[in-house]
Amino acid sequence: MANLNIKVTKINESKLSGLDWNNLPFGKNFSDHMFVADYINGEWTNLQIIPYQNISISPANAALHYGQSIFEGVKAYRLANGDAAIFRLEDNFKRFNRSAERLMMPKIPAEVFVEGTKQLVALDQDWIPNKENHSLYIRPFMFALDEVIGVKPSDSYKFMVLLSPTGPYYPKPMRIYVEEQYVRAVPGGVGYTKVAGNYASSLYAAKVAKDKGFDQVLWMDAIEHKYVQEMGTMNAFFIIGNKAITPGLEDGTILEGVTRNSVIQILKEMGLTVEERNLSIDEILEAYKSGELKEAFGTGTAATISRIQELVYEDFSMTFDCDKWEVSPEVTKRIDDIRYGRVDDRYNWLVTV
Ligand SMILES: *Cc1c(COP(=O)(O)O)cnc(C)c1O
Repeated sequence: MANLNIKVTKINESKLSGLDWNNLPFGKNFSDHMFVADYINGEWTNLQIIPYQNISISPANAALHYGQSIFEGVKAYRLANGDAAIFRLEDNFKRFNRSAERLMMPKIPAEVFVEGTKQLVALDQDWIPNKENHSLYIRPFMFALDEVIGVKPSDSYKFMVLLSPTGPYYPKPMRIYVEEQYVRAVPGGVGYTKVAGNYASSLYAAKVAKDKGFDQVLWMDAIEHKYVQEMGTMNAFFIIGNKAITPGLEDGTILEGVTRNSVIQILKEMGLTVEERNLSIDEILEAYKSGELKEAFGTGTAATISRIQELVYEDFSMTFDCDKWEVSPEVTKRIDDIRYGRVDDRYNWLVTV
């Protein structure tokens, strides 16, 4: 077993006083410390918390050339009682290992991923904003460390955790373009993993859509270009009549969002029927035209719930009056009440540090 003592080296002077709490764009500011661990000779070793700093790697680093690189996104919140808590960390840990397995990377023990993250958040907990819709974004990631140019699984890896205080991600409702030409994931591929390359390959379609005035694309299945999948880093939900429908996970093309799972549980608690299944764009269009399509939104750790104000498929535009919606604001409220510790944590979602 690895040596799990975490060696802590603290920063001389905190950077906290230089932080502008009123302007916290996503992913731009990093806390004082970071967690680092190495996988060498089949063991996790060198577990450390050190000041946030640049790292040095070989130009022949295998991850740079062939992309063995995975990540997670988690958040910590300041609770009403003053405690600091991480939301559903265990679920992100499990998903991280599913990504690792698919990319021929070593699984990481809970003692490294969970304990390392908790200790880091505990040390830098003054970086958790004490403000509605704000949080401390946690970015665990792992990449190949071998110094070799050749397509094969690396023998050595580096695991790290960064912390970034963050404000609201998508403050405004989104305009979404239903993507017919480019695809994100295919059955048998890596769509269900948080592998870095998935995001690189999504940039082009996003740019084309942005040039037309959209915020994101809604991906469709790669085979028939008929069933909707997800958006950017968000799972998709449609409220049709008194049902909530979200694409199913069976064919491995969709990321199994932790927020998606939280939202499903809350929707059921609110009395809605939740269906996880194939949902065609034609069914969405029909529901819109008959007035049954009430709400459409994305879910993800970064933004929690992002409402869709316009959904465009070919030449047809579906527009929504988001201010009149009832379901998604209630879901947001119920999840936020748990996350900020204003109600009982009835699903055991919080891990206090
Ligand atoms: C991270 C991500 C999501 C959302 O997952 P959460 O666990 O809810 O943050 C959805 N889709 C993709 C492609 C993602 O990368």
